[in-house]
Amino acid sequence: METINEQKIPQVKSKLDPSEKIVIIAHKSPDGDSIGSSIGLYHYLKKRGHEVKVCHPDPAPYFLNWITGVEDILNAEHHPDEIKTQFEEADLIFCLDFNSMSRVGDLKDNLKSSSAFKVMIDHHLDPTDEFDLLFSEPTSCSTAQLIVDFIVAMEDVELLDAEIGEALYCGIMTDTGSFRFSSVTAHTHETIAILIKAGVLPYKVHEAVYDNNTFDKLKLKSYAINEKMEVLDSHKTAIISLTKAELDQFNYVKGDTEGLVNVGLSINGLKKSIFLTEGDGIIKISFRSKGETNPVNLMAGKYFHGGGHANASGGRWDGTMEEAIAKVKEVLPEYD
Ligand code: 5GP
Ligand code: MN
Repeated sequence: METINEQKIPQVKSKLDPSEKIVIIAHKSPDGDSIGSSIGLYHYLKKRGHEVKVCHPDPAPYFLNWITGVEDILNAEHHPDEIKTQFEEADLIFCLDFNSMSRVGDLKDNLKSSSAFKVMIDHHLDPTDEFDLLFSEPTSCSTAQLIVDFIVAMEDVELLDAEIGEALYCGIMTDTGSFRFSSVTAHTHETIAILIKAGVLPYKVHEAVYDNNTFDKLKLKSYAINEKMEVLDSHKTAIISLTKAELDQFNYVKGDTEGLVNVGLSINGLKKSIFLTEGDGIIKISFRSKGETNPVNLMAGKYFHGGGHANASGGRWDGTMEEAIAKVKEVLPEYD
C-alpha cells in the first residue's frame, strides 16, 4: 500500500490525544526527507496542541537550514543531557524515515530504553519489530509523503499551512530527485497539490535547496567528476572516491557531497553509481542504481554492513579507501 494504513489511525489517535510530551526522532546523517518529515510533523503536532521536541542524532546539513523550525531540533552532539530527559519523559515517540533502531546512532539506547509508545512512519523495506505501531509503506516515495497521508487520514487537512507544507515538500522533493525517480506516482503529485493549496510556493523550496551552493562545493564536485570518477563500462557502473585530505582541500562541510552519487547515474548507459568518502575512521559508501534488475541493497547488505532501498542504499567499510574500492570492484561482477 502506497498510502498510510487508515485502519491504524484510531489506535494512533487514542495514544496521541492524551499525550502531553511527544518526541520525534529520525535516522542519523539526516537528509531532506528525515528533516522535512520531522519538522512537518513537529509543526502539525504543535498546532494540534501537543508539546513536541525533535531529537536527532546529529545536526542538519546547512542546505536545509532555511526550513523554519530546524533551529528547534535538539541534536545528540550538542544537547545529550536535554535529549536524555526528553526520551525519559516522553509519552509518545514518532520514529521517522528509518526501519530499525540501529539507524539512530548515539540515540539508540535512549530510544530503546524509553517507556513511551513508539510509532514508526517509514518507507524502507524490512522494518524490525522494535516499534509498538508500524506505518511501514515501502512503495511510498518518501516519509514526508506519508506524513501528508497521515495528516489527511487524521482529518486535519485544514491544519496544513505553508510552514508545515514547505518542510514536507522539501522531503518529497529531495527523496524523489525532484520528482523524477520511479517511486513517483499520481499520488505523489496529488500530495504535492495538497501542499501547494496549503500555501507552499514550489519555486521557493527548489531555490532554497538547489541554489544554495558554496563555490567550494561546486569546485569539489568538478574535482570529483574530473579527477576521481572511474567508469567501469563492463559493469555499467561509475565509482567516485574522496579521501579526507581531498575533502579538506575544498573546505568540506557536511552536505557538500549531497547528490554527487547521482551524477554517475546520469551517464548514458550506466546502471549503478557508487560513491565512497573517508570520514572518522571508516569509509562511507553510497550506492545508487536504475531499474528493477539492479538492486544495490543486496550488495550493501552482504559486503558493507548496510542496506536501504533497492535503488538507493548505503553502507561502510572498516579499513582503507584502497581496500574499500578493491572490494567494490571484486564483488561488482556478482551483481551484473
Ligand atoms: P545515503 O547514500 O544517502 O547515505 O543512503 C541512501 C539510503 O541508503 C538511505 O536512505 C538509507 O535508506 C540507506 N542506508 C544508508 N546507510 C545505511 C546503513 O548503514 N544501513 C542501512 N540499512 N541502510 C542504509
Ligand atoms: Mn526517506
